[in-house]
Amino acid sequence: MDDAVRRTPSRCVVSGTAPSGARVEMPSALRLPMTFDTLGLNEAILKSVLDAGYETPTDVQAQTIPAAMTGTDLRVCSNTGSGKTAAFVLPALERVLAARQDPTKRRAKGQVHGPRVLILAPTRELALQVSKAAMTYGRHIAGLRVATVVGGVPYGAQLAALRGQLDLLIATPGRLIDHLESGKAILSQVELLVLDEADRMLDMGFIEDIERIAEALPVSRQTIMVSATFAGQVGRLADQILKDDAQRIEVANHTDSHENIEQQLLWADDLDHKAALLENLLTSTDLQQAVIFTSTQRDADELAAHLYDIGHSVAPLHGGMPQGRRNRTLMALRRGELRILVATDVAARGIDVPTISHVINFGLPMKAEDYVHRIGRTGRAGRSGRAITLAERRDVSMIRRIQQFTTQPIPVGTVAGLEPTRPAPELFTRPPRRDGGP
Ligand code: AMP
Repeated sequence: MDDAVRRTPSRCVVSGTAPSGARVEMPSALRLPMTFDTLGLNEAILKSVLDAGYETPTDVQAQTIPAAMTGTDLRVCSNTGSGKTAAFVLPALERVLAARQDPTKRRAKGQVHGPRVLILAPTRELALQVSKAAMTYGRHIAGLRVATVVGGVPYGAQLAALRGQLDLLIATPGRLIDHLESGKAILSQVELLVLDEADRMLDMGFIEDIERIAEALPVSRQTIMVSATFAGQVGRLADQILKDDAQRIEVANHTDSHENIEQQLLWADDLDHKAALLENLLTSTDLQQAVIFTSTQRDADELAAHLYDIGHSVAPLHGGMPQGRRNRTLMALRRGELRILVATDVAARGIDVPTISHVINFGLPMKAEDYVHRIGRTGRAGRSGRAITLAERRDVSMIRRIQQFTTQPIPVGTVAGLEPTRPAPELFTRPPRRDGGP
């Protein structure tokens, strides 16, 4: 492996990588504002993009779509809510259409044909979200076959889908491995592999599953890896499964200021004070829909039950709930039948509901990067949002870690009548004074 490629910086960079591994600037055409019809997409795809009401491609789409359509491998560093799903789903659909025009790729009727595109996602919610996007963007493609293979649901329907002729397969790694081992998933015709939220998949311990799946695919395939970071293990996986001339695309990273999300930190004296602050926030008239994050599944259940008792339209969402109930809860949120969701980190990843106006951290995340994913549930699709963190003194070290990770302080606020009685803790360590004073 080329040294220059091995020394991938942990921060992503806005540029391409020449075959030698040297960094080159993206052609300026890829950086200029453009319209979807300049991206070279097929009419059927353009039509669905227009139906979706998109006027211009987002940054990640403007950079990724033309690059992906050249067939090159990509490492795409993109933040949540940036439009990254369409950035890889649209080129994936292009590939399906191109294969249909290619006489050498014609498929015999009545035979099982594996997918041309395989998309791996870390959670069931995200996989279902990607499937929905594929159906939306592929709605004018006649006979498009999309299958979703995720854990927590019965095998029967998945097996039936895998027995057909597939265009796109969207899967979580664990369940796909089950189907691979039983010989039911055929991956020998995959032309494009997409790893969505690769950093999260590794956090969730899917590294070996991903390596096994990658081994089952043709080496000639194209691979697109999308991740919020390419630091550490994610960077190593990228070196391992992407070709040496993979192009790098960066749109945003965790040090971005999230300008459309107004962040605030409210200090609470104790749990009762925190609950009073929460109840006050929930009465706010500008709160359309909110996701409240807790640290544990039990806290999510208990808080949702309490809020329900005091008259809120609320439901919990966490990994301990059966998949059917999770789906129904998300559907109710999307339809606006539910105003408040009380969720844990894993379950909430991938939630894409533009009407979520507020994210409230009632329990802090275990990892600083989850803070960024949490706040990204609001301020989606160009809207603005509020992200409010309720913290007690014992949370100081986690708040410090979040601020270090994002490289920004979270502005401290108060709620009139509910101010903390104790002074706010010091969050940034000042350099020691030369005279040894305090
Ligand atoms: P994603 O980052 O893929 O989860 O997308 C975030 C949100 O942006 C979703 O609600 C998409 O429907 C929306 N979206 C994606 N692309 C565009 C676009 N070009 N214009 C407007 N909204 C978009």
